[in-house]
Amino acid sequence: MLAAGDESEVRAAAGRSAEVVDLEGAAVIPGLYDAHIHTANYARALSEVDLRGVRSLEAALARISEHASRLEPGAWLSGGRWNSNTWERPVQPDRYALDSVCPDRPVALPSVDGHTTWANSLALRMTGIDRGTPDPVGGQIVKDADGEPTGILRESAAYPLRDLMTSGDLSAMLRVAQEELLALGLTSVHDIDGEDCRAAYLELRAAGELKLRVHKAIPRDHLEAAIAEGRRTGQGDDWFRTGPVKLFSDGALGSHTCHMSEPFAGTPGNAGIAVTPYPELVRLIGAASAAGIAVATHAIGDLANHLVINAYEAAGSRAVLRHRIEHAQHLRPADIKRMAGLGVVASMQPVHCTSDLDLVSSLLGERDLASYAWRAMLDSGVALAFGSDAPVEHPNPFAALHAAVTRTRPDGRPPGGWQPEQRLSFGEALRAHTFGSAYAAGEERRKGALAEGMLADFLALDTDPFAEPSDALLRTKVLTTVVGGEIRWARS
Ligand SMILES: [Zn+2]
Repeated sequence: MLAAGDESEVRAAAGRSAEVVDLEGAAVIPGLYDAHIHTANYARALSEVDLRGVRSLEAALARISEHASRLEPGAWLSGGRWNSNTWERPVQPDRYALDSVCPDRPVALPSVDGHTTWANSLALRMTGIDRGTPDPVGGQIVKDADGEPTGILRESAAYPLRDLMTSGDLSAMLRVAQEELLALGLTSVHDIDGEDCRAAYLELRAAGELKLRVHKAIPRDHLEAAIAEGRRTGQGDDWFRTGPVKLFSDGALGSHTCHMSEPFAGTPGNAGIAVTPYPELVRLIGAASAAGIAVATHAIGDLANHLVINAYEAAGSRAVLRHRIEHAQHLRPADIKRMAGLGVVASMQPVHCTSDLDLVSSLLGERDLASYAWRAMLDSGVALAFGSDAPVEHPNPFAALHAAVTRTRPDGRPPGGWQPEQRLSFGEALRAHTFGSAYAAGEERRKGALAEGMLADFLALDTDPFAEPSDALLRTKVLTTVVGGEIRWARS
């Protein structure tokens, strides 16, 4: 960014040949930065059509046709989960119906129970299934009165199709997903998915098609290989950098597997699971740190968080590397100051709080816990980075900002917010979703603010969230997304 300031300063810095874009009074904020997102899983979910809840063949075809319009030409259309028993007219669908909306891309859609697959003519041709193909062992190729396959494949008859479909092109899916993320106002992400996702992003980058900046985590299974090849956190450039290694210390609240000091209410004897035993956690943190790789450890339960903080301490933290805790949902209050002292970043997802609050009340009840304690974290000096954990939650960062400032759900429940003393101001929440995520990646000199010398990543919005009441965040639309000084997405 060359300059930021009032019009005369900026004009002077830009020179006469600069193009002037009049935003007609739209609010401008720094590009939003998701510090925890599974973009490969999100891209895969986006690429699939979901036919649950559809009530007729016509409605199913309309949804399929709409979905196909967003895919690359020739790409497989997958997803499904249809249930023709619940359609108004429970007909068995056939390939001709699919051909009518998707004649030139292969389509294969498993039913909701997964035992029947509905395919179009092209998909059948690609698997070599025709009128002469006999039923395989344990399966049936449904045929009409003339002996032609109808496109319905039962049980093992669908296996050849599924084998073909799994080889979906992840970089093509990410190309579609990045458009969605740019439209939501995200200009940078910390991706938590696997090595295939890394390879796909590098492919996009090499082709000059990467429009979103990526900080790419290393899966635990790949740590040794990453160390052996000399990979280090921060390596790369402003478009693609190596991130931290992702470890797991426990599970999740909904599955009763997060690691708690005391058993869950109603299940005596179950206090969750230590997914990585403590000595192993210390060893992994030590090995990664020695190799210059930061560590991001998933911890939800209070005991999990306590042990991860102990492990960072034991491994000799307060180093140059920014170790972090992913989720940091339920902490012993005294551990927050320890996190601050060790310089451990809290990477948190505000929408998890509003989604889970009933679960928290029923399973954790009245305990002395700091839950989703954003206010306490900031006040104690913990660096706070915000994200979505998509596709677990929707990636819309404005939903996260709304949850952070209200601690209520979009429907207004509970009135006044859950544990409202932990709410943030809009400015604090925005800072966690921009500068905080940049800080977690060691990029705070390049990203997270509108200032001279920073990357020119910013958004124009249809509402000014500093001026409007917090509910306006639920309706805020991005008008333009600029990454690296170029308009990468604009509302049409
Ligand atoms: Zn996650």
